[in-house]
Amino acid sequence: MKKYSKQRELILDSLKNRTDHPTAETLYRDLKDKMPEIGIATVYRNLSTLCEEGKINKLKSKIYGADRYDGNTMPHIHFECEKCGEIEDLFLKKERINDIDNEIKELVKKSDAKFLTSEIFVTGICKNCSNKII
Ligand SMILES: [Zn+2]
Ligand SMILES: [Zn+2]
Repeated sequence: MKKYSKQRELILDSLKNRTDHPTAETLYRDLKDKMPEIGIATVYRNLSTLCEEGKINKLKSKIYGADRYDGNTMPHIHFECEKCGEIEDLFLKKERINDIDNEIKELVKKSDAKFLTSEIFVTGICKNCSNKII
Protein backbone atom coordinates (compact mmCIF):
# COMPACT_ATOMS: atom_id res chain seq x y z
CA MET A 1 0.00 0.00 0.00
CA LYS A 2 1.24 3.44 -0.87
CA LYS A 3 2.13 5.76 1.95
CA TYR A 4 -0.50 8.37 1.10
CA SER A 5 -3.41 5.95 1.04
CA LYS A 6 -2.40 4.58 4.42
CA GLN A 7 -2.45 8.11 5.80
CA ARG A 8 -5.84 8.71 4.22
CA GLU A 9 -7.19 5.59 5.89
CA LEU A 10 -5.89 6.74 9.24
CA ILE A 11 -7.47 10.17 8.81
CA LEU A 12 -10.78 8.55 7.85
CA ASP A 13 -10.62 6.15 10.79
CA SER A 14 -9.88 8.82 13.32
CA LEU A 15 -12.72 10.99 11.98
CA LYS A 16 -15.17 8.08 12.11
CA ASN A 17 -14.25 7.48 15.75
CA ARG A 18 -15.17 10.94 16.98
CA THR A 19 -18.32 13.01 16.94
CA ASP A 20 -16.92 16.45 17.74
CA HIS A 21 -16.66 17.58 14.08
CA PRO A 22 -13.03 18.72 14.35
CA THR A 23 -11.32 21.29 12.16
CA ALA A 24 -8.37 20.15 10.03
CA GLU A 25 -6.01 21.69 12.62
CA THR A 26 -7.55 19.80 15.52
CA LEU A 27 -7.42 16.56 13.58
CA TYR A 28 -3.82 17.23 12.62
CA ARG A 29 -2.79 17.85 16.24
CA ASP A 30 -4.39 14.58 17.36
CA LEU A 31 -2.96 12.56 14.47
CA LYS A 32 0.54 13.84 15.05
CA ASP A 33 0.85 11.69 18.18
CA LYS A 34 0.31 8.56 16.08
CA MET A 35 2.12 9.74 12.95
CA PRO A 36 4.82 12.28 13.81
CA GLU A 37 5.78 12.55 10.12
CA ILE A 38 2.36 13.75 8.97
CA GLY A 39 2.07 17.36 7.76
CA ILE A 40 -0.85 19.76 7.88
CA ALA A 41 -0.93 19.98 4.05
CA THR A 42 -1.33 16.19 3.87
CA VAL A 43 -4.26 16.38 6.27
CA TYR A 44 -5.96 19.09 4.20
CA ARG A 45 -5.35 17.26 0.93
CA ASN A 46 -6.69 13.95 2.23
CA LEU A 47 -9.72 15.57 3.84
CA SER A 48 -10.65 17.18 0.54
CA THR A 49 -10.21 13.86 -1.32
CA LEU A 50 -12.37 12.07 1.26
CA CYS A 51 -15.05 14.76 0.79
CA GLU A 52 -14.97 14.29 -2.98
CA GLU A 53 -15.32 10.54 -2.50
CA GLY A 54 -18.35 11.16 -0.28
CA LYS A 55 -16.77 9.34 2.66
CA ILE A 56 -16.90 12.36 4.94
CA ASN A 57 -18.75 15.68 5.00
CA LYS A 58 -17.48 19.20 5.34
CA LEU A 59 -19.46 21.62 7.49
CA LYS A 60 -19.35 25.36 7.53
CA SER A 61 -19.36 26.57 11.09
CA LYS A 62 -21.73 29.51 11.56
CA ILE A 63 -19.80 30.73 14.58
CA TYR A 64 -16.18 30.13 13.61
CA GLY A 65 -14.79 30.56 10.12
CA ALA A 66 -12.93 27.25 9.90
CA ASP A 67 -14.41 24.24 8.12
CA ARG A 68 -15.31 21.29 10.30
CA TYR A 69 -15.33 17.67 9.26
CA ASP A 70 -17.84 14.93 9.96
CA GLY A 71 -17.14 11.21 9.56
CA ASN A 72 -20.82 10.36 9.82
CA THR A 73 -22.39 10.48 6.35
CA MET A 74 -25.85 9.37 7.50
CA PRO A 75 -28.26 12.28 7.07
CA HIS A 76 -28.57 14.17 10.32
CA ILE A 77 -29.14 17.61 11.76
CA HIS A 78 -26.42 19.74 13.30
CA PHE A 79 -26.81 21.80 16.43
CA GLU A 80 -24.14 24.41 16.94
CA CYS A 81 -23.65 26.21 20.24
CA GLU A 82 -23.35 29.97 19.77
CA LYS A 83 -21.11 30.31 22.81
CA CYS A 84 -18.54 27.52 22.52
CA GLY A 85 -19.02 26.46 18.88
CA GLU A 86 -19.56 22.83 19.77
CA ILE A 87 -21.47 20.90 17.11
CA GLU A 88 -23.77 18.09 18.20
CA ASP A 89 -25.56 15.56 16.02
CA LEU A 90 -29.33 15.30 16.13
CA PHE A 91 -31.04 12.39 14.47
CA LEU A 92 -34.54 12.33 13.05
CA LYS A 93 -36.18 9.11 11.95
CA LYS A 94 -34.78 8.11 8.56
CA GLU A 95 -38.14 8.38 6.75
CA ARG A 96 -38.70 11.79 8.26
CA ILE A 97 -35.37 13.21 7.14
CA ASN A 98 -35.85 11.72 3.66
CA ASP A 99 -39.27 13.41 3.47
CA ILE A 100 -37.80 16.77 4.44
CA ASP A 101 -35.01 16.30 1.94
CA ASN A 102 -37.44 15.49 -0.88
CA GLU A 103 -39.62 18.43 0.01
CA ILE A 104 -36.65 20.79 -0.11
CA LYS A 105 -35.65 19.36 -3.51
CA GLU A 106 -39.21 19.94 -4.79
CA LEU A 107 -39.19 23.53 -3.59
CA VAL A 108 -35.85 24.19 -5.27
CA LYS A 109 -37.14 22.62 -8.48
CA LYS A 110 -40.23 24.82 -8.38
CA SER A 111 -38.09 27.92 -8.24
CA ASP A 112 -36.18 26.72 -11.34
CA ALA A 113 -32.92 26.49 -9.46
CA LYS A 114 -30.52 23.60 -9.39
CA PHE A 115 -30.34 21.56 -6.20
CA LEU A 116 -26.90 20.72 -4.86
CA THR A 117 -27.04 19.72 -1.21
CA SER A 118 -29.23 20.40 1.76
CA GLU A 119 -28.21 20.58 5.35
CA ILE A 120 -30.19 21.45 8.43
CA PHE A 121 -28.27 23.59 10.86
CA VAL A 122 -29.67 24.66 14.19
CA THR A 123 -27.99 27.16 16.48
CA GLY A 124 -28.53 27.56 20.20
CA ILE A 125 -26.80 27.36 23.55
CA CYS A 126 -25.56 23.91 24.57
CA LYS A 127 -26.20 22.27 27.94
CA ASN A 128 -22.70 23.04 29.24
CA CYS A 129 -22.90 26.72 28.37
CA SER A 130 -26.45 27.06 29.74
CA ASN A 131 -25.30 25.63 33.08
CA LYS A 132 -22.40 28.04 33.41
CA ILE A 133 -22.95 30.82 35.89
CA ILE A 134 -21.86 34.10 34.34
ZN1 LIG B 1 -21.65 25.63 24.36
ZN1 LIG C 1 -22.53 15.47 12.32
